Amino acid sequence: MAMNLTRRNFLKAASIAAASVPLSKVTAKAQSGVVKAPLVTPGTFKNTQNAVGGVCEMCFWRCQMVGKIRDGRLIKLEGNPKSIDNGVSLCARGNAGVKMLYDPDRLKYPLKNVGKRGAPQWQRISWDEALDTCAQKLKAIIDQYGAKGLAMFPHGSAARYPSDFLKQTVGITSVSEPSFFQCRGIRDTAYIATIDTPPDENVDMANAKVIFLVGSHLGENIHVSHTKRFVKGLQNGAKLVVVDPRYSASAAKSDIWVQIRPGTDTAFLLAIMNYLIENKKYNVDFVDEHGEGFEEMAEGIKQWTLEKAALECDVPATQIKEVADLLAANMPHVSIHPGRFVAWHGNDFQRLRASACLTGVLGAYGVKGSFVKPVSPKGFGSVKWPKTAHNDEPLHVMQDKYPFSPPGVPTELIRDAALTGQPYPIKGCVLWGHNAIQTLPNQAKTIKMLEQMDFVMCVDIMPTDITMFADILLPDCSYLECANQLKYGTQWDLSAEQQQYITARMPLVAPGFERKDSVWVTNEIAKRMGYGDKIPVQSEQEFNDKVLAGVGLSLAKLKEEGGIHLQPGKDPYGVKEDFTVKFFSDDLEDADFPPIPTYIPVERAPEGYYRLLFGRSPVHTFNRTQNNAWLMAENDSNPVWVNDKVAERLGLKNGDKVALVNQDGVKSRTTTTVKVTPGIRTDCVYMYHGFGSMNPELTTGAGKGVDCQSLITKLTVDPETGGSGMRNNFVKLVKVS
Ligand code: SF4
Repeated sequence: MAMNLTRRNFLKAASIAAASVPLSKVTAKAQSGVVKAPLVTPGTFKNTQNAVGGVCEMCFWRCQMVGKIRDGRLIKLEGNPKSIDNGVSLCARGNAGVKMLYDPDRLKYPLKNVGKRGAPQWQRISWDEALDTCAQKLKAIIDQYGAKGLAMFPHGSAARYPSDFLKQTVGITSVSEPSFFQCRGIRDTAYIATIDTPPDENVDMANAKVIFLVGSHLGENIHVSHTKRFVKGLQNGAKLVVVDPRYSASAAKSDIWVQIRPGTDTAFLLAIMNYLIENKKYNVDFVDEHGEGFEEMAEGIKQWTLEKAALECDVPATQIKEVADLLAANMPHVSIHPGRFVAWHGNDFQRLRASACLTGVLGAYGVKGSFVKPVSPKGFGSVKWPKTAHNDEPLHVMQDKYPFSPPGVPTELIRDAALTGQPYPIKGCVLWGHNAIQTLPNQAKTIKMLEQMDFVMCVDIMPTDITMFADILLPDCSYLECANQLKYGTQWDLSAEQQQYITARMPLVAPGFERKDSVWVTNEIAKRMGYGDKIPVQSEQEFNDKVLAGVGLSLAKLKEEGGIHLQPGKDPYGVKEDFTVKFFSDDLEDADFPPIPTYIPVERAPEGYYRLLFGRSPVHTFNRTQNNAWLMAENDSNPVWVNDKVAERLGLKNGDKVALVNQDGVKSRTTTTVKVTPGIRTDCVYMYHGFGSMNPELTTGAGKGVDCQSLITKLTVDPETGGSGMRNNFVKLVKVS
C-alpha cells in the first residue's frame, strides 16, 4: 500500500499549519460574532479542548471523530474513542481534514462570474445579491419552462436538504446523483431485483472462511471499519480470492489471484455456478428453502462450462475450478463482496445479479462470515419539505426507459434532454457538491449542456473543474463547520458484543469567512422564490434535533454522551423465513430483460490500444482531496501502469513521461509517468482517478497527473439501470520528450 502518512508526521504538519496561518485570516467572520459558536467541551490536552461530534466526510464512510481545538483553531482530528465503528482510527484522508479546513484556496465569499463559463472572472458579491440572483433566475426558468426546466446534480450530505426542497416542493425530477449512476446504484438495484434489499458493503468479512472480491481493491479503497473487517478476516485465516486484471493491494494478499480479461466477470461467475450445480456442490438445503427459479437458472447457464469461460475470461479452466471448489468447501461462510464502484462496462447489472445469485447458490446469506445485514437503530424522526402539485409533472417518462434505475434520473437522459430540448428543454442547473466534469463521462458533452443553460449555480467548499462553469458560486461550510449528517450503525465486528450507535454531526469549529450551511442557503433561496411558508426547519441543528427526537435523543444529549450514543444491539445473523433469492426474475422477464443472470460481451481493445482502467488512490477520495497539501505530499500524480512486455514493445521505461490519446483522438491535457509492471494484463492500463484538475484556482492540485475522466468519451449505458459504463475506452501512450 502506497501510504506513508504516519501519526507523528501528521501531528508535526498540523502544528506547522496551525502556526503559519494567522487567526485573523481564517476566522474573520467568526470574530465578528455573526456565526455560531462551536460546540466545545473541556479536554485533557494542554491548552487544547476536545470538540466532540465530528463526523468525517473526506470520503462518505463517515467515521466518528473528536477535534483538538487550540485558540479557536482545529489543530488535529482523531477517531472518537467511544466509536464502535472506526474506533480511534482515521485514515490518512480523515487526518488531513485539518488541511482541507484551512486550505487558502477554499471558497470564501459568494461570487459572480463576470467572464465566460469555463473561463470565469469572479466578482465578490454580497449574500443578498447572490441569493436574490439565484432565486430570480431559477424562478424565471420555472415560469417559462415549468419545474422540468431545471436539473440538479447533488453530492454529499450538504446537498440533501436543497435536493429535497427542489424535488418535493419545487417539483423537479431531473436529479442525478453520481453515487447512484456513476458508482453503486447498479449494485443496489441488482441486489434488490434478486433479494429485495440493497447490499451492505459490510459483508461479514471478519468472520469469513473465504473472502471473494471481484474488482474491489480493498486496501487502496480505504474505509476504516470496512478495512478492519477485511484485515481481521485475513488475520483469522480466511482465504482470499481476488478477481482483478491488476495486481492490486488486495491481490497482493490473495491466495488466488484471477487475472481476468476486463468485462468478462459475469462469464466467470456463471461458470462457477454451473460447475457447482452440475457437481452437486451447491447448498441444496438453502436453495430448496429460499430459492426461486433455480431450475430455470441452472438450465439457462449450462452452456457456461469451465472451458468456455476460460476462453472468454482468458484464465485457466483449472483456476476457475479451484475457486469454485474453495467456495464449495467453505460454504456458507463465504463473503462475496458486492463492490462499491461498479459502473464498469454497461453490462454491470447482470454481473451484480450473478454475484447475488452465486451468494445464494452457496447459501451465504445471513450466516456467520457471509452476506449479513446488521440490525441498525430504527425510529428516527423525519424532516421533509412538503410535496406540492408540481410533482404531478410527467417527468417519469424519462425514468420509464430504465425500470431498474436507482433513485433519480439517469444522467444521460438529463444531458440529452438539455441538448436536444426533447422531451422538454432543461435550462437551469444546480450543482451542489458535485464536480460533474471529473465525474461524468464525455466532458465535452457536459460542457455543451452547461453552455446552453440560462443559469448555472454551484455550491461547493472548494473551487473545482465544474465551478469554472458557474454563473453564481456559493461557499459552503465543510463537514467540520456544520451539523448536516446523522450516522448510525453497529459495532464493526458482527460477532462481538452486539451494540448499536447513533451520532450526529456537530460543528467542531465555526465557519470561516462568509461560508454558510446548506439549510440556511436553501431556506433563503426558498423564501425569495415564494416558498417561505413551506420551510420545515430553521437550522441544521433543528433538523438534527427533530430527527433525533424520534429515538429519544437530541444534539445536547449526544454532546453530553461524548458525541455518540450507545445502546444494546441485536443478533445480526439469520434470514427471515420468507427471504427469497430470485435466480429467475419474473420482473426482469416482464420488462424484457434477461430473467437469469446473463453474460453480455463487451468490445475489446482495438489494435494498438489498451483498455483504460481506473480506481482509487489510498490517500485520496478521487478529485475531492486533490488540493490537500498533506495528501498531495504523499501522492501527487497518477502514473499509468503498463505491462512490462507491452512497455518493452513500445520502448517505454519506468518513469518515462507520456500523454494518453483515446480511441476518439482525445489527448490528455497533461502528462504522467509510466509505471512498468508485470502486475497488469497486456490488454489494459490502469491509473488513479481524480487527478489532473484544470482549475488554476487549485494551486496545489491543478495539472498534477492526468485527468483520466477526460479520456472517457465513450459511454456504454447499462440497459436495465441507465448507469454509466465507463471502462470501454481505450488509449494509446505517446512518449513525451
Ligand atoms: S474512511 Fe477515512 S476519509 Fe473516510 S470517513 Fe473514515 S476517516 Fe474519513
